[in-house]
Amino acid sequence: MEICGKKTRCRAGSSPMSTLTCGKVQDMKRIIKNGTVVNDSGCIKADVLIDGEIIEKVAPDIGDPGAEIVDAEGKLVLPGAVDAHTHMDLDVGFTRACDDFYSGTVAAAAGGTTTIIDHMAFGPKGSYPWHQVREYHKLADGNAVIDYGFHGVLQEKADERTLSEMKEIAEKEGISSFKLYLTYDLMLHDKDVFAVLKEAKKDNILITVHCENDGMVNYLRERFGNEGKLSAEYHPLSRPAAAEAEAVNRMAYLASEVGDAPLYIVHLSSAAGLREVKNIIKRGQKHFGVETCPQYLILDDSMYDDPKEGLKAIMSPPLRKEEDREALWNALKRDALDTVATDHCPFTFEEQKQRGADDFRMCPNGAPGVEERLMLLYSEGVRKERITLPQLVKYTAANPAKIFGLYPKKGLIEKGADADIVIIDPDKKTRFSRDTIHGNADYSCYEGMELHGGIDTVMQRGRVIVKDREFLGEKGAGQYLKRGISSIC
Ligand SMILES: [Zn+2]
Repeated sequence: MEICGKKTRCRAGSSPMSTLTCGKVQDMKRIIKNGTVVNDSGCIKADVLIDGEIIEKVAPDIGDPGAEIVDAEGKLVLPGAVDAHTHMDLDVGFTRACDDFYSGTVAAAAGGTTTIIDHMAFGPKGSYPWHQVREYHKLADGNAVIDYGFHGVLQEKADERTLSEMKEIAEKEGISSFKLYLTYDLMLHDKDVFAVLKEAKKDNILITVHCENDGMVNYLRERFGNEGKLSAEYHPLSRPAAAEAEAVNRMAYLASEVGDAPLYIVHLSSAAGLREVKNIIKRGQKHFGVETCPQYLILDDSMYDDPKEGLKAIMSPPLRKEEDREALWNALKRDALDTVATDHCPFTFEEQKQRGADDFRMCPNGAPGVEERLMLLYSEGVRKERITLPQLVKYTAANPAKIFGLYPKKGLIEKGADADIVIIDPDKKTRFSRDTIHGNADYSCYEGMELHGGIDTVMQRGRVIVKDREFLGEKGAGQYLKRGISSIC
């Protein structure tokens, strides 16, 4: 075993475990002993032998005299979580998301996420897809502490150059999914959406979509503005569930018309949206996936009752009602959704969010959440028997890895997979608050909640990067991931 001598770069103290985080892991062997290994296919009591960066074997009672032992007795051993929806360093024109690729991925790691796929911001008006790919490498390379990839972004139009760049980026950069928006200034109109879907079908590119009816939202925002209804409680009223449902339905028909182009709906938030999803599945449409987020499962629109606190939850789509939350949990239970991602897009409450204090329309949209996802879903989902442990892994690791072309390197504990592992201690308790979260946001939407279970250890490609919620990894240690074709295609 070789130690690289970079101990000074760690905030690790002097425990033996911490020292090892800096070791060159290429020739290091570790055995995670006596834990319950959870994959999306089921749970088994087994040991996990890690050789360097790769899982070598999963079996009961593995013995290897040279290996270091990580004791996981009574603990759950899961594949490192994959978050397919983050917005690190997002530039929204008048400000930027307060987490960059360093602080945001430290927070992700602390919460058991070892891979993110980040959604790029729109580029300057008139720019083409390559522009943001280059910009995002500048933001992320050398900063991310966990492995990362990008979704491309499509904006304003889908002319010949847009479509040819999309194909070229997929081939050269391994960016096999692109995002488009049905609302906001640089959205695509239906004619261009249709052109994109036709091309995507041909080239096996997954199109991910922010679904809200732009006309409805703009009408309501303008009307509330004219009537002086500008406190946070009008934010959800300006973006009703019907706006989401209509857009989901429209996207599905557009995709269906070109032979079921591969389509993925991001951040589904409502029971109305879910009813459209059911109809789409009933019609027999293929190549279709749906994501929801913890905030739509756990929080509701009563957060907007307090005009000051409500700014914390100004995000799009907005928080919905109790019945929407229950409908989404039931859908997860029935395997009627595909992934749970975070849409992590944090702004500080004390400064950035205050821009909306007198007019909700001026508030930057988004909230932190990249660190909270896994423990929220474990505590509120698994422990409350709304989902099973294999479903937890399915929604947070296996499915995002499959859908975004990273499987079986990511999202699986099996021979040959990357040794990205999160060990959960079911007996611990977790509280998220501004004092305990790792990102740059000065609040958590889940402040005060006591959660069952806690993150014990997080490994990325064999390295221990988190122990007892303390980050032990290194800036820039994350690798850029070229992704393959989506399982949805
Ligand atoms: Zn988003």
